[in-house]
Amino acid sequence: MLVRSRRDVVLGTLLAGGLSSLASAGLYGGIALWRDGAPEPFWLAFAAAAPFVLATPMVAYLLELLRRLARAKGEIEELARRDGLTGLLNRRAFFEAAEEALRQAREQRTPLTLLVLDADHFKAINDSWGHAAGDESLKVIASTLLAATRQYDLVGRIGGEEFAVLLRNAAADEAGLVAERIVSAVALADFRRAGRPVPLSVSVGIAVLEPGLDLDGLFARADAALYAAKRAGRGRSRAAEPGTGEGFVRRAARAAA
Ligand code: GH3
Ligand code: MG
Ligand code: MG
Repeated sequence: MLVRSRRDVVLGTLLAGGLSSLASAGLYGGIALWRDGAPEPFWLAFAAAAPFVLATPMVAYLLELLRRLARAKGEIEELARRDGLTGLLNRRAFFEAAEEALRQAREQRTPLTLLVLDADHFKAINDSWGHAAGDESLKVIASTLLAATRQYDLVGRIGGEEFAVLLRNAAADEAGLVAERIVSAVALADFRRAGRPVPLSVSVGIAVLEPGLDLDGLFARADAALYAAKRAGRGRSRAAEPGTGEGFVRRAARAAA
């Protein structure tokens, strides 16, 4: 939509008012000349002023409605990209934005790293403290993720108690530090129910973008690393080994079953 700001409304109104005045005065002047008479200054001024006076409030009103419509559309689109509980990107929006980030990273030859996170023993939190407490703890984890990342990283909730972070311009070392920062920040989060502390913990799988990997491949590697972190005792991060992927995930899933 073209009308985005108040400035657009003012400019559009002036333009519409000015053009209609010009057209009206031109029409009156043209008819007067065609009839071999000189245009009368009073009627010329009237022909110019009348549409301006009449058209501007109407055009301003319509353009203001269009501006509000454009704003509401933007707000709805933004809401549709967000997870209702945590306010993070939802699964679909995360994957869409991640595809675009992968494309940019390849084009600009910048590093990119994916973290996949899963809350540990989350079923036990629900069972012991109730589903509402589980929901609250997911919010705590979400705000910890936002605090540990930069504004241009992507942070999403991609499943019930699963999150993903795409670190732009971050290679393995830096991503490892971010993952560890997240793990300890979640462990240190002061989450209480009925005055009693409820320990929170996440496991993190790390996978670095390499040539030939697409988003699915990157996720498969990060998932494999996440399983490794879970099997190693949870509450920690693990980086994907080269060559790990879907086969590894299946083997790990069988081993964990
Ligand atoms: P693990 O350490 O192996 O990940 O154990 P876990 O208990 O976290 O894993 P499991 O997959 O057994 O259980 C996940 C639980 O997360 C089960 C489900 O009820 C809960 N869960 C999923 N989404 C939500 C949610 O939106 N709110 C709440 N409160 N719980 C959720
Ligand atoms: Mg899970
Ligand atoms: Mg879990």
